[in-house]
Amino acid sequence: MRIDSHVHITPPDISANWEKYAGNEPYFSLISGSKVNKFASAEDVITMLDDNNLDKAVVFAFAFRDPGLCRYVNDYVIEKVKEFPQRLVGFAVTPPGNESGKEINRCFCAGLKGVGELFPQGQEFNPENKKETEAITGVCKELDIPLLLHVNENVGHSYPGKTDISLKQVEAFVTNNPDLKIILAHFGGGLLFYETMKEIRKSFVNVYYDISGAPFLYDYRIYNMINALGICDRILFASDFPILSPSRYFNDLEKSNLTENEKQLIFGKNAERLFKI
Ligand SMILES: [Zn+2]
Repeated sequence: MRIDSHVHITPPDISANWEKYAGNEPYFSLISGSKVNKFASAEDVITMLDDNNLDKAVVFAFAFRDPGLCRYVNDYVIEKVKEFPQRLVGFAVTPPGNESGKEINRCFCAGLKGVGELFPQGQEFNPENKKETEAITGVCKELDIPLLLHVNENVGHSYPGKTDISLKQVEAFVTNNPDLKIILAHFGGGLLFYETMKEIRKSFVNVYYDISGAPFLYDYRIYNMINALGICDRILFASDFPILSPSRYFNDLEKSNLTENEKQLIFGKNAERLFKI
């Protein structure tokens, strides 16, 4: 099975009137107003899957600061997963807070299989602070579902939405939650390079990395490094559609020294195991 593990969907009424929702949501405003931004409906994702010879997509809506807006967009994800059960796997979004456990449980009971992509800076929480995040991490552990966290590089070119959250903060989030299945987006902002450190390797056994954003960030040798690090069993194919199409990744993956077996892990087997699909 070929799975895209990082796809954003937006209810059509928000896509059409995004400015209306941007007033109290600075991070949403920044991302939505950027030149590279695009919105996709669930139906657009089905077309994308067919065009790219993919079986399933993990879809989620924008993670707002406002829990009410999160509930609203989660309802859209729930509805579309029910409509396309063979093609879409849904994740829930929520800011950390008193209501987040209840919302994650509601979404889980309605068929969603994870939480994310959460934005620490955009949703104004510090991943290092156990107290701030435990309302979410606790429920994810209880339900045994993964949590997808946005992480960007602390170096290199800047782009809209690139934040100051440090790799040190993300490391603390991982070590604070040894039993939680964590997906670090965008190669964990480069945190995966530290997998050669003994203590990182040891505390990151439940950490997965997705490759979303690769064409903007790295050349094909990033995949050779994954191979050299021996972590192909914790890497997920992920496009960040609609900002990037899956087809943008295929050439570099082909050019790399990954074996057919390793590519199969990355393209689907890891996701099947992690999402229990
Ligand atoms: Zn992201």
